[in-house]
Amino acid sequence: MGNLAIYPGTFDPVTNGHLDIIQRGSEIFERIIVAVASSRNKNPLFSLEERVEMLKKTTAGYKGVTVESFDGLLVDYARAQGARVIIRGLRAVSDFEYEFQLALMNRKLNSEMDTFFVMPSEKYVYLNSGLIKEISRMGGDISSLVPGEVLKKLKAKYHK
Ligand code: ADP
Repeated sequence: MGNLAIYPGTFDPVTNGHLDIIQRGSEIFERIIVAVASSRNKNPLFSLEERVEMLKKTTAGYKGVTVESFDGLLVDYARAQGARVIIRGLRAVSDFEYEFQLALMNRKLNSEMDTFFVMPSEKYVYLNSGLIKEISRMGGDISSLVPGEVLKKLKAKYHK
């Protein structure tokens, strides 16, 4: 049970920053479930199926990593999977306040839940999915920041 962690997020779309966290996590935990939230309230550019598909393709070579989708409360989902560890990425002080609230709220909802924070490589500290979409839409070069699979999908969305 202690060897399983859940890495939840919207992943709209997955970036090299997310992959960096998954890679680091997979060296510590035997199994990681990347849990893609439907996040309907965030109005994602990619459908849940597309987000799961991109993650499956880009994490295919990672040991012990599986990708699933979930809806509803993360703590309920984690409990159903038998996991008590949540992984989250921490990029900068700006992430801290929200992540701190989320981690303590999740523990309040399920006292067995703990959140492990992982810092990405400094190359990805300024990277987020929102920025990627914005730059891609305006035709900027993001080829070193997202996997090739995602680059293709972004081009198909914005530059038909
Ligand atoms: P959410 O809607 O849950 O914030 P995201 O897909 O934006 O979903 O992020 C999922 C997790 O990945 C969060 O913990 C976030 O801090 C982390 N993350 C996002 N981008 C990066 C990055 N460039 N480096 C490290 N962690 C990141």
